[in-house]
Amino acid sequence: MSRVAIVTGGTRGIGAAVSKALKDAGYTVAANYAGNDAAAEAFREETGIAVYKWDVSSYEACAEGIAKVEADLGPLRVLVNNAGITRDAMFHKMTPEQWSAVINTNLNSLFNMTRPAWDGMRERKFGRVINISSINGQKGQAGQVNYSSAKAGDIGFTKALAQEGARVGITVNAICPGYIGTEMVRAIDEKVLNERILPQIPVGRLGEPEEIARTVLFLASDEAGFITGSTLSINGGQHFA
Ligand code: NDP
Repeated sequence: MSRVAIVTGGTRGIGAAVSKALKDAGYTVAANYAGNDAAAEAFREETGIAVYKWDVSSYEACAEGIAKVEADLGPLRVLVNNAGITRDAMFHKMTPEQWSAVINTNLNSLFNMTRPAWDGMRERKFGRVINISSINGQKGQAGQVNYSSAKAGDIGFTKALAQEGARVGITVNAICPGYIGTEMVRAIDEKVLNERILPQIPVGRLGEPEEIARTVLFLASDEAGFITGSTLSINGGQHFA
């Protein structure tokens, strides 16, 4: 039977590429999103992938969302915690709202999504949890103290939970993308992108969402059962960790 996968933020950007790659590999995919109904509907029409709207910063919404997906599609085997936002500001200008929004969406979401999924994965003695962190969680980034904190937290979450999942067939890994050509990155001022960011990337280009998706696919596979607690850097040679 086809394995069920949930991809949070699975209708746009990196998440959309992950959803498509999993579907093409034979998974039954549920793509979650937050509020952009038009993008989600266009994605559903284009791909035939089921879309589900809930806010990953709410524990109750995640528990309900997972229960609905499992009732519709079957037991959850693969969870890709990908949804994320930025609310950039230099620290001396950062508001409590900017801090909380990013911590809730990019870090607390990992608890909110994984905790309700965990008991079922433990019972079935199989699970794949793949967390999309960031290069900026590894190296820190000015103007992103909130984002860097959340993404570094994602790595700690991954390492600790991997130890708990190891004996019950559940792997937990993190991927740290560098700059990938999604709306999040294309929103950066073109001058900043061309003059400051691209020169920092040894490969000399932005990454493609599909390059992240292929790694997710591998981590989700049976063949990757000995890889857990790992942080995979996919950044064109920009940062080694
Ligand atoms: P996009 O902005 O292109 O897409 C974000 C997705 O997340 C959308 O589907 C959005 O839904 C969803 N989302 C946002 N907030 C919530 C929420 N509260 N609940 C549910 N879904 C939500 O992002 P990217 O594809 O660029 O980034 C994906 C992940 O990769 C993020 O975690 C990001 O931090 C990380 N990353 C990205 C990099 C890059 O270069 N792009 C580099 C390093 C890490 P909706 O469409 O409804 O808004």
